[in-house]
Amino acid sequence: MGFLSGFVRMLLTLGLGLLLMPAQAAPCMIVSLTGTQSGPPAVNGLAGAGTLVRYGDDNNDCNAVRLQFDAGRGTTMRLSQLGVSPGQVTAIFFTHVHSDHADGFADLAQLRWNFNSNGPKLDVVCADDMTSALGFTLSCRNLVAHIGDAYLKSGEIAQRRSEDKSRLPGGPADVLSIKTFLPTNDAQGVWSLGEVKVSAIRSTHITGHASYRVDTPAGSVVIGGDAGNDVTSPPRASSTSAQVERLAQGADIVVHSTMHPAMGPDRDSGMPADVFHRQSLVGDLGALAKRIGAKHLMLTHLAPPLGALRHGPYKVPGGPFTQADYLKVVAESGFNGNVVVGTDLATIRFPSK
Ligand SMILES: [Zn+2]
Repeated sequence: MGFLSGFVRMLLTLGLGLLLMPAQAAPCMIVSLTGTQSGPPAVNGLAGAGTLVRYGDDNNDCNAVRLQFDAGRGTTMRLSQLGVSPGQVTAIFFTHVHSDHADGFADLAQLRWNFNSNGPKLDVVCADDMTSALGFTLSCRNLVAHIGDAYLKSGEIAQRRSEDKSRLPGGPADVLSIKTFLPTNDAQGVWSLGEVKVSAIRSTHITGHASYRVDTPAGSVVIGGDAGNDVTSPPRASSTSAQVERLAQGADIVVHSTMHPAMGPDRDSGMPADVFHRQSLVGDLGALAKRIGAKHLMLTHLAPPLGALRHGPYKVPGGPFTQADYLKVVAESGFNGNVVVGTDLATIRFPSK
């Protein structure tokens, strides 16, 4: 009797234990556009270029790893709308150091220093210093090392430290950990954390430009940045990057800067031909997404921005443009996956709920 009741109790405990064990949480990934403005102008309140990739599982709402790609103007404000503070960003990656992709970084780094000096350093991943054909050097390393210099010189850092000695003496650069790589024509792993792996490939836009891919058990996303074709003007098979296409094979989501054909030199926009040709055209991106079998194409960094009468100093022939004006061109490419014509905070969850 004693043995039997003990046995029954054991079975009951085991059964209850199994019932209480959390179900295997499904992995998930969320991709959000933190800014969709193309180029330096401030337009209609749009934030500067950036994409946030979150990964986790259903138990933490896909929010265990937070990777920021580029950080244009207003990035911290968009992140705040997504409930992500500068202290919670796991790593930041730069496609290139054009100011419209980096203007929000000083703000992010300053806030991280101010409130999270005791926390983990923020990994900053970008290309090695590279010298252009014209002889100037583009240095992500210097951008990072000097990101807080204005506030060091103005006395802001010393004043804040006098209020809280745990703030690190060198200012924002002290909370950053830079990891550079030499972009090459073959994809290379540049960062990883557990199941999340980030690889990079060289792409053409300005010297030192790189495109990234994030692979997770929930899905994969490619961040093309401002990549264009190595052949920098027509005639060419496509305005898109052959390297990005290789990197993106089998990816679920492609996020890419885009140029509308209406801005072309044949349409009297006034945009210099080389500025026009160094971006990927919207129709060519549709064709690329179709060839690689992507499920989603997220167009961002729209040139021209939606609703804009002018794109910086340039006219918008036939504009202002709506999302339909972009969708029409993608449709002609034959891509029949989901197309997002980017607005700030546009989001795709993968897999969808
Ligand atoms: Zn750009």
